[in-house]
Amino acid sequence: MFKFYRAQGCFSRTIGFLERSTKQPIFNCSMCGQCILRTCQLHCPMRCPKSLRNGPCGGSHEGMCEVIPGHRCVWDQIWNAAERRGQIERVMKIQPPIDWRLEGTPAWLNVVKGIITLDGHPKGCWMPPFTGPATEPRAGTALENALRAGQFAVTAEIVPPRAPDFASLQKRITMLRGKIHAVNVTDNASASVKMPSWAVSALLARNGVEPIFQLACRDRNRLALQADLLGAYAFGVRNVFAVTGDFVTIGDHPGAKPVHDIDAIQLTAMLHRMRAEGKLASGADIRDSAKAEPFRPKLFIGCAAHPTADPILGQVMRVMKKVRAGADFVQTQVVFDLKRFAEFMKVARDHGLTEKAKILAGVMPVKSAKAYEFLGKVPGIKVAPEFPKRIEAAASKDEEGIAIAREIIEFCRATPGVAGVHLMAPHWEAAIPVLLERCKLGVQPFTPSPQPVAAA
Ligand code: SF4
Ligand code: SF4
Repeated sequence: MFKFYRAQGCFSRTIGFLERSTKQPIFNCSMCGQCILRTCQLHCPMRCPKSLRNGPCGGSHEGMCEVIPGHRCVWDQIWNAAERRGQIERVMKIQPPIDWRLEGTPAWLNVVKGIITLDGHPKGCWMPPFTGPATEPRAGTALENALRAGQFAVTAEIVPPRAPDFASLQKRITMLRGKIHAVNVTDNASASVKMPSWAVSALLARNGVEPIFQLACRDRNRLALQADLLGAYAFGVRNVFAVTGDFVTIGDHPGAKPVHDIDAIQLTAMLHRMRAEGKLASGADIRDSAKAEPFRPKLFIGCAAHPTADPILGQVMRVMKKVRAGADFVQTQVVFDLKRFAEFMKVARDHGLTEKAKILAGVMPVKSAKAYEFLGKVPGIKVAPEFPKRIEAAASKDEEGIAIAREIIEFCRATPGVAGVHLMAPHWEAAIPVLLERCKLGVQPFTPSPQPVAAA
């Protein structure tokens, strides 16, 4: 298919040669065929190893790329240039997914032929605003009900086991059932193979724990993402969480080919379009017969934020883009640097983000200085130096770990614009009930919608 597009004749090849000769040395152009240099402040976004057209990811640190050591993060450059030139709104425009058939073709000629617009968007591409009904159907999940009712919401996280062994999950399910609003099920977290997120989400739904189905763009193209969402929905999953995903090189299959067909913002828009219009990314209706009404899944859509990744404005505005694309709630990466989190929330409030979406702060109890040292090296996480020092000096490291997590929760609860906390304790899950009890957190008395069990 690509060869067909690339070999359209002598004229096309000549223009392609001229375009490549001009743009490759200056912009490191890889001829995506749908140029968005104008929007991206004359920095080519295709230099991003995750092919993000709506960056940055959550791993950019002090202007450097999390994937390629020693390389500048192109999205750090784009946001800094946009801020300097007062062109933030230009970068805020949601970029549609790439039409991979155009890869290798000359973008100049594609504009002249009307295949793409001057902004580099393939003609007829799907992006917000969508034309759904004024009131979208609500998912009616316990998480959605709590957040809409203004309650301080609590979510937790389950990393699926690698071996398909339900017994290992049962303990965690029992520990969390009835105590929190919903549980995220990670999707091959840290780019390492685990049981699939949709299957464990379905297991949770069937066992009385409301799941948040995480969908990562790293492992699936747009077909597989939509198919998995519809499959999970049929098993009662209503909360969905769109992420780009850690890059493959940090995981257990570092030589695998990362997919990154679409990014997390495009995925959010795709989910929102399914909800609002009952349409797939292709524009086809979600229905099996021409007479049926298009099926509009009732979804509550979440997205990630990275308060301690760089640049701070780019991180806030990227979340704002996700909200514009259709996200309803936001869960942040773990907070270990309170000063930086407060700065992030201030920028978020100043730009109206906290009015448009519910933000849940990520909190992780940690009981060893070594764990803090490891976490401090994870792209996008910053650890304040006092926390590992306190753990080192403590007589009871468990108690000190709980005390620190409690302080972070109380700090977040007191920060304007924080609507809840998201508790992550991958190697210390027993800490979660202790924190819930000591911080008086958890499901508040109200009548949630009945747990959905099948596609409506
Ligand atoms: S956006 Fe595409 S066409 Fe434009 S410089 Fe980058 S790779 Fe080349
Ligand atoms: S840090 Fe992330 S957004 Fe920036 S270039 Fe690297 S992969 Fe892309």
